[in-house]
Amino acid sequence: MAECLFCRIIRRELPAEIVYEDDHCLAFRDINPQAPVHILVVPKLHLESMLDLEHHPELAGFLGVSLVNVAREQGLVTNGFRVITNIGDWGGQVIKHLHFHVLGGRQLGNTLG
Ligand code: 5GP
Ligand code: ZN
Repeated sequence: MAECLFCRIIRRELPAEIVYEDDHCLAFRDINPQAPVHILVVPKLHLESMLDLEHHPELAGFLGVSLVNVAREQGLVTNGFRVITNIGDWGGQVIKHLHFHVLGGRQLGNTLG
């Protein structure tokens, strides 16, 4: 996926404020933060959306652990936070590389659509 924006960030071809990395995932700050903490957690493997995790159940587990690690490192666990993944056009997905938004650092409103 040579042209994928997030693949290019993973390959360090484009700059990003990386806050976490492990064998399977990279996490970096969203360029347009919607909360005091707004991190994108992405698998290093290019998958289009969460639908593809059906074929990679082991990666689903690793992503879950990575999300918890990021939240803990960002100091979000005590007060709570939110994890969102958008899927497809009606889900509001703009970047077609699976990513989880980790949002926190303030009281979040009810934004379930
Ligand atoms: P989506 O709408 O696909 O769920 O979320 C895409 C997110 O990627 C948006 O929140 C947007 O601000 C963020 N984003 C888009 N381009 C870049 C970029 O070049 N760098 C970073 N760090 N975030 C980006
Ligand atoms: Zn990609």
